Amino acid sequence: MSALRKLASWELVGTPAQGVPTGLASACARVGHDLRHDARARARLPEPRWWAGREAGAPEGFLVVGMESAQGALFGSGVNCAVGQAELTARVAEITQDHLVGYEALPWPLCPGHDHPMAPCAIGEQAWWCCGDTQQPLFTIGQLP
Ligand SMILES: [Zn+2]
Repeated sequence: MSALRKLASWELVGTPAQGVPTGLASACARVGHDLRHDARARARLPEPRWWAGREAGAPEGFLVVGMESAQGALFGSGVNCAVGQAELTARVAEITQDHLVGYEALPWPLCPGHDHPMAPCAIGEQAWWCCGDTQQPLFTIGQLP
């Protein structure tokens, strides 16, 4: 087992301590905004915080990011912080959604008018929530109403 060194823990829409790349912090703030604007997600994840860590020997730019509650870590997954901002934001959205859909049975965020969750996608410079069926971009990640 490789050793994981925790770098930081910070609020859902907040700024991490030093050691977390600003691109990753920005991606987390966007996804955090969307989580906080969903009453069902808020109820399911009381007072969640982001955390980030680095595995011993991981290549430059590879971090583990996820969420924790007062009870401990909820999830964490590897991200490559060297990709573009849109791709990084979509990746953070994806791992957050994987936890909510897979472990909390919460289809977040719901697609308007459909009963499936929207899919995170990076299109050009922007990260979007897209309809899972049509792939049509619907909302910028970080601007869910
Ligand atoms: Zn849809």
